[in-house]
Amino acid sequence: MRLLLVEDENEMAAALSEALLKFDVVVDRVFSLDLAREAVADPVHDAIILDRQLPDGDGLSLLPHLRASQSGVPVIVLTARGDVNDRVMGLDAGADDYLSKPFALEELLARLRAVLRRPPAMAPAVARVGQLVFNFGNREVSVGGQPIELRRRELLVLETLMRRHGRTVLRSALEEAVYSFDDEIQSNALDSHISRLRRKLDTHQAAVEIHNIRGVGYLLKAVE
Ligand code: CA
Repeated sequence: MRLLLVEDENEMAAALSEALLKFDVVVDRVFSLDLAREAVADPVHDAIILDRQLPDGDGLSLLPHLRASQSGVPVIVLTARGDVNDRVMGLDAGADDYLSKPFALEELLARLRAVLRRPPAMAPAVARVGQLVFNFGNREVSVGGQPIELRRRELLVLETLMRRHGRTVLRSALEEAVYSFDDEIQSNALDSHISRLRRKLDTHQAAVEIHNIRGVGYLLKAVE
């Protein structure tokens, strides 16, 4: 998991990053609103922890920008102010949760787990690329109303590519989506899922291409 931490207090940020690393959470840290806006332009984070009192303004002002531009990436707002009005303001602005400083790391971790379980509010229920329709609700894949039968791992690979269509998805992210920690991964297993997937999509004239970005990952887009 990769987190964006927007926090200007060095001590606090360093302690949090170090603590989160123990839970295999990779933390990218920025210390101003300006840098936060830059960081969210590239939607690589699974969650954002956002301080309110930043040197160039109120952290909450990132939220409308974030919600308009992309994703339902979950945001937990941190603040020294903990009164009810502040919390309501934060949640109304689009935060998923709110945590008053000082807080116990365990509480932050519990809240992170909770927001990550929630389906992103803005995520569409259905993605369409080319002629291909992926229904995230019932995980049905179809072209022109005709369902396509996929094996479980092909389905998981396709789901991950469809959620981020038009962007390169890292090999590691695809492998994470398909295999649990306990699975043994053959080095070319992902490539064989992809090639079977390509064949099935071609057969059904889905009008999508899965590009191999050498050494990086795969990208799904409509055939032009
Ligand atoms: Ca601060």
